[in-house]
Formats: sequence, C-alpha cells, structure tokens
Amino acid sequence: MRVNKDDQVLVISGADRGKRSRVVRVDKGKELVTVEGVNVVRKAVRRSRRNPQGGRLSMEMPIAVSNVQVICPVCTQPTRVGVRFGTDEAKFRICKKCGADIGQISPAKK
Ligand SMILES: [Zn+2]
Repeated sequence: MRVNKDDQVLVISGADRGKRSRVVRVDKGKELVTVEGVNVVRKAVRRSRRNPQGGRLSMEMPIAVSNVQVICPVCTQPTRVGVRFGTDEAKFRICKKCGADIGQISPAKK
C-alpha cells in the first residue's frame, strides 16, 4: 500500500473515473482511501449534538486503493509507485515514470 494522506491521485475506476483529487484519509488495514470529492453520498442524518440541524449531509465514502493511481508531483503523470532503498535501509517512494523521489516511507536504521 503506497498511497499516503495528502497524495494527489487519479481515480481509474468507478463512477468518478478520471477525477484528480487529494487523499484525505487512508485505511491501511482495509486498503481503502477516502478521496476529496470522490464517491460522495448524501446521507440523511438525525438531529444530534454534532449536527443540530439534521437533514442531509454530503460525505465521501472510502474506495479501494486499487481504484486510484498516485499522481507524481514532479512529472504530474499518474504513475505506479516504486520503492528505493537509501543509505541505512531508509525507504523512499519513487515515481516509476520519471524516477523522482516522492516521499519517504521509513527512516534510516541506526
Ligand atoms: Zn514522476
């Protein structure tokens, strides 16, 4: 699972196919991501303390990670993500298209 919060992603499947947006939440266990403005459902909610008005609320539902592709911030292409090992076993994500580092996965071991 190589998608992180705040990544830009391209939705490649489902009703929102083709949309580019930002990841707002990641569920690593279930391999789900919630993407801003993607898979929005209107949900009827009762009056509650959090929602004193009640009524209908738009909210994004999580989608499977396999339905999105990370957009490389360097070459702005939707890409697959590779892993590069740095010194002392530090791990970095790299763009498979241009080879740029797009964030660290785990720090160096000392
Ligand atoms: Zn790239």
